[in-house]
Amino acid sequence: MAQNVSVKVLAADELLSKIEQAGLVGRGGAAFPVHLKWQRIKNLNDPKKYVVCNASEGEIGVKKDFYILEHFFKEVLEGILLTMDFLETKEAYININKNYYQKLKAQIDALIEPCNKRGYLIHIFEEQPSYIGGETGALLNAIEGKKTQPRLSPPSPSITGIFHCPVLLHNVETFYDITRVANDRYLPTRFSTILGTQNAGVYQVGIEQKVAEILRETDNYPTFAFFVQVGGGASGEVITASQAEDMKLSGAGSIEIYPSTTTAQQFLGKILNFYAEESCGKCTPCRDGSWQLQQIIEKLAQDQAIPWSRLSPIVATMEQSSFCGLGKSIAVPIKSYAKNILGLEV
Ligand code: SF4
Repeated sequence: MAQNVSVKVLAADELLSKIEQAGLVGRGGAAFPVHLKWQRIKNLNDPKKYVVCNASEGEIGVKKDFYILEHFFKEVLEGILLTMDFLETKEAYININKNYYQKLKAQIDALIEPCNKRGYLIHIFEEQPSYIGGETGALLNAIEGKKTQPRLSPPSPSITGIFHCPVLLHNVETFYDITRVANDRYLPTRFSTILGTQNAGVYQVGIEQKVAEILRETDNYPTFAFFVQVGGGASGEVITASQAEDMKLSGAGSIEIYPSTTTAQQFLGKILNFYAEESCGKCTPCRDGSWQLQQIIEKLAQDQAIPWSRLSPIVATMEQSSFCGLGKSIAVPIKSYAKNILGLEV
């Protein structure tokens, strides 16, 4: 059944100032201040602009966007409407992981339909789940019906936009936060996907909380020796249990626990399979580099030492020369694992 979403009427300046005072940053991973992004797109003279909600979520095991869509879609939609009103635009896209939409279609459509009857035009764009599908340029290309591959930047993909018009793009969680700010209900919290523990799931945690504290508070602190990967799924930083006492959440807010008995081959195999599978193939360093790394690990005999002298130059080339953040980011998990868990200089 269709339901109405009411939007608090706020002057553009008032809402912008509330967002700035709340210190709201984007929750897609880059943590860019929301008010600066709003101002930049608002100041463009283009006669038409779009709002885009990124609900593509393609990191391994990360499910926080799904959780928010399932439990708080009303608030997400309210945030999209507030952003549209601020930009004085009537058209928006929700770029959504196809699997998520299939599960939540009835409740999502029931809320969007009345908005569209009131004069908004909110499209659902179903995207094949992939990590690169969440990258801004790739996502906008997909909406335009082009290949899901990143764009040259600068200029920012938000400026080149879709159909020659700029876009104001945020992740699902950011729109949820915008609604809380507008209604004076904002708390400095964020959603975190916790994986690999007894109570794995999605939790709302304090943005200032340390990783170990989060694990304790959610009853997820392991009873076994462990290391942990923090941030954006497979591209997150790998740290020891003692480093987790001092580190705050970053990136997409994931926390994945690995038992200390996990071998280097097992850990690197998982990470490198991800990169090889998710590389979109547009640039050589990432396309060939991720494949070569995967092959090196796959062909090692059990218990054979990791040949770091072969891995390191490939990782360095990918970090320095890849076209987009996916290829560049491979250095984060590989180097931090080698340094923090194995105690190597790489
Ligand atoms: S770095 Fe990888 S994902 Fe990015 S453009 Fe190059 S091949 Fe595609």
